Amino acid sequence: MSAPRIGVLALQGDTREHLAALREAGASAATVRRLDELQAVDALVIPGGESTTMSHLLREFELLEPLRARLAEGMPAYGSCAGMILLASEILDAGADGRQAVPLKGIDMTVRRNAFGRQVDSFEGDIAFEGLDSPVHAVFIRAPWVERVGPDVEVLAEAAGHIVAVRQAKMLATAFHPEMTGDRRIHKLFVDML
Ligand code: GLN
Repeated sequence: MSAPRIGVLALQGDTREHLAALREAGASAATVRRLDELQAVDALVIPGGESTTMSHLLREFELLEPLRARLAEGMPAYGSCAGMILLASEILDAGADGRQAVPLKGIDMTVRRNAFGRQVDSFEGDIAFEGLDSPVHAVFIRAPWVERVGPDVEVLAEAAGHIVAVRQAKMLATAFHPEMTGDRRIHKLFVDML
């Protein structure tokens, strides 16, 4: 079987870093901006960036409902930070009226946007990650946390007492940005899930 083609949603955010990380993890990766590109991939990464802007652009590019449909059919997906927010089934503090982040409902979880607060907008730390034998250096930038997970969701990591990485079937989400460090273990984990 040929290697699965992984798309990286490229409407906004740190697309390039994910493309590089996926390739280093041994996958074939391409950007997704249009419907035909979405339909051509076997799995999708939703990068970090700004979930409200990405939601707006998903609508503008007429990708919102097709993407929801592919996730509902079980297309594997990985979201980091803003991508985690979008993969949620429910978003708290979703943003100003008319410009809100929209849940794509891939993972049965409630996520709070910008959860760690202004004082600690961005921080880094080494955290334990389920299934990895040494800690991951996690970079958090205006990161969300997970406030509720459904019964089928596996918690993979916590930071400061909050859930920051989860998995449900072939969907993975992290509140932090592994694409910004040289550590490819989390991208590898996603590639191995396919
Ligand atoms: N705060 C951003 C949002 O709401 C996420 C930040 C990030 O992806 N680094 O989408």
